[in-house]
Order: sequence, then structure tokens, then C-alpha cells
Amino acid sequence: MIRSLLIANRGEIAVRIIRTCKDMGIRTVAVYSQADADSLHTRMADQAICIGPAASSESYLNIRNIITAACVSRCDAIHPGVGFLSENPKFAEEVERAGLVFVGPTARTIRMLGDKVRSRHSATEAGVPVTPGSMEAITDAASAAELAQQIGYPVILKAAAGGGGRGMRIVKHAKELPNAITVASREALAFFSDGTIHMEKYLLNPRHVEIQLLSDGKGRVVHLGERDCSVQKNHQKLIEESPSPIINEQMRQQMGADSVRLFEHIGYRGAGTIEFLVEDGAYWFMEVNARVQVEHPVSELVSGTDIIRQQLLIAGGKGLDVPDEPLQLRGHALECRVNASTTGTVVKFNPPLGPGVRVDTHLFQGAKISPYYDSMIAKVIVHTPHRQLSIDTMVRALKEFVIEGVDTNIDSQIAILLSKPFRSGVFGTDLYTRLFPDPKKR
Ligand code: ADP
Repeated sequence: MIRSLLIANRGEIAVRIIRTCKDMGIRTVAVYSQADADSLHTRMADQAICIGPAASSESYLNIRNIITAACVSRCDAIHPGVGFLSENPKFAEEVERAGLVFVGPTARTIRMLGDKVRSRHSATEAGVPVTPGSMEAITDAASAAELAQQIGYPVILKAAAGGGGRGMRIVKHAKELPNAITVASREALAFFSDGTIHMEKYLLNPRHVEIQLLSDGKGRVVHLGERDCSVQKNHQKLIEESPSPIINEQMRQQMGADSVRLFEHIGYRGAGTIEFLVEDGAYWFMEVNARVQVEHPVSELVSGTDIIRQQLLIAGGKGLDVPDEPLQLRGHALECRVNASTTGTVVKFNPPLGPGVRVDTHLFQGAKISPYYDSMIAKVIVHTPHRQLSIDTMVRALKEFVIEGVDTNIDSQIAILLSKPFRSGVFGTDLYTRLFPDPKKR
């Protein structure tokens, strides 16, 4: 049973976790950098501890300071949130070594899944189809060229330790391959301290569909249906929805069963997501995200499940609190990420309200948006009986949203929602570049 939780994160996800803790009667301890002294998560938590200067490397990524903060504040567990240390096996290890509970999978699982090559092996062992490509790291240009010839161009080179849409390089022609391999592995080494890369067939305009799972670590695994995250800019998600407009019941069941089997196979514990690419009715495993994801609210709304609460129950040894019978998913949920394109002070802040609208944010009037962290400042999530209604409600909510003092992507999000392909549900991951072909206007 968790009584006191330290949240090793900031921003909207820290606020989100604190709210569930309050619902569950868990005491919360926030950590913050000097740039975040006045932020909402530090104000909402029962206690707040400064862990270092603004730069994340010295604060939100500072394992020693975070664990010390948890010990001095007498916490019994640490929730890593999203990003920062959430998929760092060393952090999970250190947390447990300090006698604290890590709210997430075991360090061993995180380490294995953090390597895209190893996770492709696990998926294959569990009988889950993976995108055609290399099953081993690429070591020499000649065998890579042979493989690329076999699977057909274009191919994509990915950093095995990559994440967040970075460390990927598309190769269209054979003559570009040798140089691309050199550059990709050099970049992988620079960004992720690991030069290992692998190759996959590059699908031209797929959908990104992922399955949300919960596992108690003792053999019970359930899935909460899918999220469609095909609206992306530079391989980063912008809009997510559940259910996906292109997945029928049979495919949902098949993808769900495959995902559950993979989590059973690796003995996964906690909340996690399996990401797939979908094209022409077929799907392929891409990777596992061993943490809660930014877009988790859409699954919460259609399944009626508080995913953070489930994480805390699992970590506290209480198991899952979801019904035994197959989960009924209700209605349609849509999430738009609101990103800031400038920094500064928010001088006016009026988030949307009304039927079917939820806003996860750490902003308030007077909040400062600094250049140090992720540009996402809010998530608007709507839940209605069906997709068209969700789109209309989202457009209304985004138009109602007043944020003054910094520039945001709200107008382009509205333009996407109103576009014909998005409304029809028939589009792929290239939607954003199709709607905004001029890179200067994005
Ligand atoms: P990250 O771990 O950085 O998030 P992913 O492997 O999850 O990277 O891929 C992010 C996005 O990149 C996907 O949602 C998809 O749009 C695109 N992508 C990745 N692999 C492929 C592929 N083989 N073919 C086409 N698009 C891909």
C-alpha cells in the first residue's frame, strides 16, 4: 500500500498524478527545478522540494537528488510520469535499491523494451507480427544493402535506443544507404549514447494505432482498446482518439489479444502501451512504451478507468481494479495537444468547460513558460457518444480556449479538425504535411 508518493516530474502530468493521489488519500511530494518554483504541481502537492537548477540534466534527470528528496520526505514510492526518467532502467534500479517502490515495470523489463531490436525479438517470440526489417543491429553496409533490397525501398533506419520521434532516418534509394548508416549511427550515439541502429521497411502513409494495457505483474493482463495517433508532426503526436475510425471489432480483438499475449510473454507489470503501424487492414508491432503515455486520457474516458489509479494499485500490490468481464468501451474520445510556440508569461488563461470537455494542464494566469522543457502546455480531451460529435465539441472547446501571452498551435489544431480527410476518418501519418505543405507556415 502506497501512503506517500514522490512525483519525479513536472507540468501537466505531475498535476494529473497529484489529483489521483488526492482521490486515493495518498500524500504527495513534488520535486521542482529553480525555473518551476511557482508552478502548479509544486503548489498542489502536500510538500515540494527543489532538486536543482533549470536545466533538466541537473534537476528532473538528477537521479541522486530525486531519490534523496524521496528519502528525506519519507515517501514510500516514486512515480516517474512521462518523459524524463520514466523509461530509464538505472533510475528504476536505484529507486528499488533505496528501498522505495517504483511505479512502473521492473528495471529489467524497461531495459529490454528500451532496445527496439530486443523488443522486436520478444514480439516475434510471442507471435506478434513486426514491421519487415532487421532482427539484429546493423553492423556493415553490405549486409544492410542486401536486406534493404529484400524488403524494398524506402527503408527507415532507427536508433535502437531512440524515442520521442528522434533518431530516425528515411532512405529512399540504395545509393544513399551507406552514408545514411554512418550518419544515423553517429546521431544515435550523440542523442542516446548508443550507436546501435536497425532497419525497417518504411510504410508510406500508415496509421499509428496503439493498445493500452494494464498488467498486475502476477499474470492478469487486460487491454483498454486502442488509440489512433496518426495525426503527427515530425513523427510526434498531435491528436489522438479512441476508438480508431479504421479499426473494426474483429481487428480490435485481434490486436488486443496479440498485445495481451506479448505482455504475458515478457511478464510485464504496470500500465504500458504497444504501438503498431496499420496499413490496408494489416498491422505490425513497432514498439512498447513502458510507462503511462501523454494520450492516456482518451482511453480513460472510453473505458471509465483511471489509469494512474490502476498504476498505483498495481505498484502497491493491490492488483487491478477492473471488472472480470471484457471491458465495455463507451462513446468516442478525442485529445488535442496544445503546444506553445513561444515562451513568456501567460497573462490571460480561460480553459474551456462544458459538456464532455476535460482539460489537463499546469497553466494558470501568471504562469511562466520557460524554454527549458517540453512545449506542451495543455491537453484538451472530449468524450461524446460518437466521433462526429467529438470533433464538433473539440472545435467548440478549442475556440473557447483563451491563452494570452504566448503563441500556441490552437489554430492549426482547429484547421486539422475541420479538414475533410480528418472528418472522414480516412487519412494517414502524412496528414499534417498534406494540410500544411509550406514548412515556414507550420
Ligand atoms: P519513437 O520511439 O521515437 O516515438 P516510433 O518508432 O514510435 O518512434 O515511431 C514514431 C513514428 O514514426 C510513428 O508513429 C510513425 O509515424 C513513424 N514511423 C516509425 N516507423 C515507421 C515505419 N517503419 N514506416 C513508416 N512510418 C514509421
